[in-house]
Amino acid sequence: MPEQQSHPEVRDAVARLCAEYPDEYWREKDRDKAYPTEFVQALTDAGYLSVLIPEAYQGAGMDLAAACAVLEEIQRSGANGAACHAQMYIMGTLLRHGSDAQKQKYLPDIASGALRLQAFGVTEPSSGTDTTRIKTRAHLDGDHYVVSGQKVFISRVEHSDLLLLLVRTTARDEVEKPTQGMSVLLVDLREAVGNGLTVRPLETMLNHATTELFFDKLRVPVENLVGEEGKGFSYILDGMNAERILIAAECIGDARWFIDRATQYAREREVFGASIGKNQGIQFPIARAHVQTEAAALMVDKACRMFDAGEACGSEANMSKLLAADASWAAADMCLQTHGGYGFTVEYDVERKFRETRLYQVAPISTNLILSNIATHVLGLPKSF
Ligand SMILES: Cc1cc2nc3c(=O)[nH]c(=O)nc-3n(C[C@H](O)[C@H](O)[C@H](O)COP(=O)(O)OP(=O)(O)OC[C@H]3O[C@@H](n4cnc5c(N)ncnc54)[C@H](O)[C@@H]3O)c2cc1C
Repeated sequence: MPEQQSHPEVRDAVARLCAEYPDEYWREKDRDKAYPTEFVQALTDAGYLSVLIPEAYQGAGMDLAAACAVLEEIQRSGANGAACHAQMYIMGTLLRHGSDAQKQKYLPDIASGALRLQAFGVTEPSSGTDTTRIKTRAHLDGDHYVVSGQKVFISRVEHSDLLLLLVRTTARDEVEKPTQGMSVLLVDLREAVGNGLTVRPLETMLNHATTELFFDKLRVPVENLVGEEGKGFSYILDGMNAERILIAAECIGDARWFIDRATQYAREREVFGASIGKNQGIQFPIARAHVQTEAAALMVDKACRMFDAGEACGSEANMSKLLAADASWAAADMCLQTHGGYGFTVEYDVERKFRETRLYQVAPISTNLILSNIATHVLGLPKSF
């Protein structure tokens, strides 16, 4: 099958690791809504979650293409990398904007897996996609920020030691531009939970360990401010290109898993005395999904190369995320259809992956918001909001 194969040695090694966590493992975790602790530990021990941390901080110091290879292979094996993918990229904000003291304090331990930084708190119930309207406030009280407010859909908090939190430090109507006046705090969850922070699990259609967070005068030491007060929004934006390209790589992995499974099933399943794969009505949707996936993979590859070359790649990151998420969702639908009734049964794993890949039409950024960005920033059409 023709496809991009950057970092083949990383891909092989990740595929071998994932083979030790077969379909049954993920099926059980999904049924029990349990966190795949063993899998995440194995990835951590093998160093795959620290590929983007520079060697100076004891990470592997590899490029984004290597991180994409890791995540694509995880998804392609049938696993769910969403359990830990954020450990790879959330630290980017700390790396780019943190003080030397913060980097020395946290990054080596994140690289070794001693500290988990895989929770990222942006979304709020009342602001939704309109991040500048977040209401979670932090004000200075001596040498602490005091945080009050609420977040929703914040994933992996129960499996993280640290949370990167976006708060308002100056009210929206007191700043020149709505994007000003927000700040990023590094919250130590080991101290915060039960002392001003309440975490409430949120049940969703997929096993994603997502939660609601309630802040009631949580005290965060002032030294945990990342970068400058008031500039948090731009720091968060900075990290979004890497996040989008990595999620796009995951979607490519998902799409390839669906295509592999559909092809295999279409060959083996016999109805009307022949394999269903003999019918063009079955073949063509599989072939179309393959074409769509390979095209999306080229855009992911392009965005990744631009990112690794230090070029501005906001539009390419957005386009790759949209194309890859569309390819994986189309492949998911095709795979379910190819499996007929069996696609709905838990034992074939198609319905689980179908639910999991659907998320990427909405998070971390929804398809509409990407289209809006392309329409206004690339094509110069008037803004609608
Ligand atoms: C399982 C899961 C895990 C998540 N994990 C995290 C996490 O760890 N951290 C975090 O901060 N967030 C997380 N999120 C939140 C996610 O990023 C948001 O759900 C997403 O950004 C959309 O925000 P919203 O749900 O408030 O939708 P809304 O902003 O309410 O939008 C609803 C719909 O309207 C559309 N829409 C809104 N405005 C416009 C417009 N102007 N034009 C056209 N269409 C528009 C949107 O595209 C969307 O389809 C997670 C979400 C889920 C479901």
